[in-house]
Amino acid sequence: MAERQHKLQAIMISVPFQGHINPFVNLALKLASKGCAITFVHLQHIHQKLSKAHNSDDLFSEARGSGLDIRYTTISDGLPLEFDRDLHAEEYWVHLFREFPAIVDDFVGTAIEADPYLVPFLVADTVYAWPAAVAEKYKLVNVSLWTEPALVFSLVYHEHLLKERGHIPCKDDQVQEINYVPGVESISTNDLMSYLSETDDILLETLSAAFKGVKKADFILHNIVHELESKTLSALNKYQLNYAIGPINFYKNLAANTISKSLVSESECAPWLASKPPGSVLYVSFGSIAQTSKHVIEEIAYGLLLSEVKFIWVVRAGIVSFDDDTNVLPEGFEDMIKDKGLIIPWCNQITVLSDPAVGGFLTHCGWNSTIESMWCGVPMICYPITYDQPTNRKLVVDNWKIGISLCDGKSVNRKEVAENIKSCMSGTCSKSLRQEAKKVKDILQNALEVDGSSDRNFDQFFNDLKAKINDTATSE
Ligand code: UDP
Repeated sequence: MAERQHKLQAIMISVPFQGHINPFVNLALKLASKGCAITFVHLQHIHQKLSKAHNSDDLFSEARGSGLDIRYTTISDGLPLEFDRDLHAEEYWVHLFREFPAIVDDFVGTAIEADPYLVPFLVADTVYAWPAAVAEKYKLVNVSLWTEPALVFSLVYHEHLLKERGHIPCKDDQVQEINYVPGVESISTNDLMSYLSETDDILLETLSAAFKGVKKADFILHNIVHELESKTLSALNKYQLNYAIGPINFYKNLAANTISKSLVSESECAPWLASKPPGSVLYVSFGSIAQTSKHVIEEIAYGLLLSEVKFIWVVRAGIVSFDDDTNVLPEGFEDMIKDKGLIIPWCNQITVLSDPAVGGFLTHCGWNSTIESMWCGVPMICYPITYDQPTNRKLVVDNWKIGISLCDGKSVNRKEVAENIKSCMSGTCSKSLRQEAKKVKDILQNALEVDGSSDRNFDQFFNDLKAKINDTATSE
């Protein structure tokens, strides 16, 4: 009988949010397609949502059927399943930061003992604070996946510089240009991430801890292409090994489409879109977590009506608040729009953005949404709400010129909303937005072609990873 070969094993524990799950699952598939065994872990409450939305208990069965070695399992995050994590989002985040690391530590200790023919390494989301300690304890090579732009990474990475110059906390009333962060030419304090505005923000506290750990990671993977953030990435490479391997949500020849990632059942939009002329429909969605006010929803609703543009609007549960499930749209709105609009709770966003009828995306600028729009060549109307979204808006509007802001100031009013929708879809700036969006689309799509920049970077990363694991094994 042939001797069983040793095989690399990626241990991957997902962050329990849609925008982190999507690229993480695709990265798992990509590593599996390179011959790694994957131990993929979802938290139990995420597994419960996925099973319900997709009517399936084994989310990777089809991928396994196509020959990939993916061992799927779940762990508890330490809270009862009934605990409402959406309603108590901040409390939950604190729990993940403080209590979850001990659970992961135990899990990884057991996982690496399970099969002596596997050579384990860790692939973890950069926002988790536990990977450095776990990797050190079990002597694992540590790969960190950053799911936002390199600009945002760089700003958190150089948090100490921002603190020294008095830009954390950044004061709302003093707009200043920041031009001292390596690899970042210039950024206004207005465009910084929301969590930099206060020193005692829990997200900043957890990200600071996570980034202390990431400075010890062996490899950092970025969900972007090198060409679009080359200066920032080159500057980061002076400290550590960074690889731009995006856009991860569009990896080719993977069983990706057979994997259930959406936490909510998807409404079908294709029949509605089928009768609409090319480029005529605006897609509106604010991602999976961000919340806004009823007033803003109302202004956007009337702005859409005034613009007379056709639209699909994802009005998801919790968009205004989780403890108030009454209809957030103006009364009678669905009757007013007639066939002009389709209102749905959730959809397959990539399928919608890929539809030729879609010509614009009114987005909160979550990074996945942004890069999905870029991949499809769809210009954006940006309404950043929180977290990294204001910084992503700057890249879209100021650097790449593939989008416009929804409103100039902080307040949202229906007249300005309508004007900007018209201007993006068919007005004066529509043509140049579309030209630039096409250029960016080509850059992204070329990057994933054989020998494109992200394809090469992934191969380089994988070779460096194998070499590092060999070195670690021989030095023990
Ligand atoms: N998404 C989706 N259907 C929807 C709305 C969003 O599939 O109706 C997906 C979208 O494709 C993206 C993710 O949810 O991959 C949202 O991630 P993003 O980083 O844009 O925003 P977040 O939810 O993290 O704020």
